[in-house]
Amino acid sequence: MTGSIDPAEKGLRIGIVNDTNFMIEQLPGDERRRLLAGAERITLEFGDVLERAGDRYKRILFPTGVVISLAAAAAGRQDLELEMVGNSGMHGATVILGLDAAPLGAKVRRSGTAWQLSISALREELRHSPVLHAKLRLQIHACLTRHAQAVGCAHFHRVEARLATLLSRTVDCAGDNHIELTHEWLARILGARRVSITQAATALQACGSITYHRGSISVLSRRILLRRACSCYREASA
Ligand SMILES: [Zn+2]
Repeated sequence: MTGSIDPAEKGLRIGIVNDTNFMIEQLPGDERRRLLAGAERITLEFGDVLERAGDRYKRILFPTGVVISLAAAAAGRQDLELEMVGNSGMHGATVILGLDAAPLGAKVRRSGTAWQLSISALREELRHSPVLHAKLRLQIHACLTRHAQAVGCAHFHRVEARLATLLSRTVDCAGDNHIELTHEWLARILGARRVSITQAATALQACGSITYHRGSISVLSRRILLRRACSCYREASA
C-alpha cells in the first residue's frame, strides 16, 4: 500500500467512530435503551448472503461497521447494486410497511459488526418509538429516490464518475477510508466490464484520490474523489 491521507481531508474523514449506529445514537434516551436491551451484537463477514430477493427477513440489523449491499437480479445476469446500508441506517426497513419479504437481495459488502433484532421485537418496539418510526420512513423515502436516480446514473454517467460516487458512499457507510473490494466485485456492482473498472480505478489513482492494490482500496483524498464523482452523490446527499 502506498500513499497517505491528505492532511486537508481531516474535516471530511468519517472514520472516527466505527462502532456506532447513528440512527440508534440519535434516538431519545428511553427509545435507545429499550431498543438496545433487546438487541444482540453480531459480526458478519464479507460475502455473507443475508437474504435473496423474496426471502422472508430472518432479522433486522443496525450496522455498526458492516456495510450491506442491496441488489436486484438482472434477468439471467449478475446482480446490480441499487443500495447500500451502513452505520446511518437499518437493514430491513420495509418491515414497517407490514411486509416480511425482502424486496432486494442482501449481501455483506464489508465485514463488520451490527446490532441484531428479531422482526417481532422491532415491531413491538415501534409501538412505543415514534422517533425510530419516523427515521425508518425517511430511510425508505431516501431509498426510493436513490433507486430512481440509479436508472439515470447507469444510462448517462461515465464509469469513472460512477466509481467515484460508489467509493464515496461506501466510505460514508463504513465510517472508514479503507475498503476491501476487488475489481470483479466492483464490475458486478456497477454493471460494467472489468476492464472499464480497471481503467476508471487507474484514473482515480492517477489524480491522487485513491490508491489500490489487490482488492484493497484506500481513499487518500475525499475532496478530489468528490470532484470526480457524478452529480448523483451530491443530489442524494442534499
Ligand atoms: Zn450518477
